[in-house]
Amino acid sequence: MLNLVKVPDKRLHMVSTPMEENLYETVYKNLFLEMLDFMYENNGVGLAGVQVGILKNILVVDVSKKRNRPRFIANPKIITAKGEVVIEEGCLSIPDKQVKVKRFSDILLECIDGKIGKSGKFLFSGFEAIAIQHEMDHLVGKIITDYEGK
Ligand SMILES: [Zn+2]
Repeated sequence: MLNLVKVPDKRLHMVSTPMEENLYETVYKNLFLEMLDFMYENNGVGLAGVQVGILKNILVVDVSKKRNRPRFIANPKIITAKGEVVIEEGCLSIPDKQVKVKRFSDILLECIDGKIGKSGKFLFSGFEAIAIQHEMDHLVGKIITDYEGK
């Protein structure tokens, strides 16, 4: 049973550590599925480990309208990025708050694909790329209110 970590919980400003690849099958494979269900229940488009109290570099996103295109991502690293978009973002951990944030519109990500536990490089664009960058901020203890007034 997962619980949502919300502001002003200090954990939201802590830096997460890498997912241990050797624990993928026994721990993380199932955890990704639990996080996805939890995200859907809370009507989110993205969820990072820290938001459910797990300070590991793991995140799930699904920006599809039908809620049927989830991505499970671990240990992400942006290899290249381009473009610039500014949109108002919300966050499950910060209820009733929207902040304008500048993001890249296209990213090439090196990460572990949490569906299979193998690493690879993946291109993301548009809203999906934005959601991933938002969740990656969580992994380093950054939240949207840190962008206010910038
Ligand atoms: Zn968030």
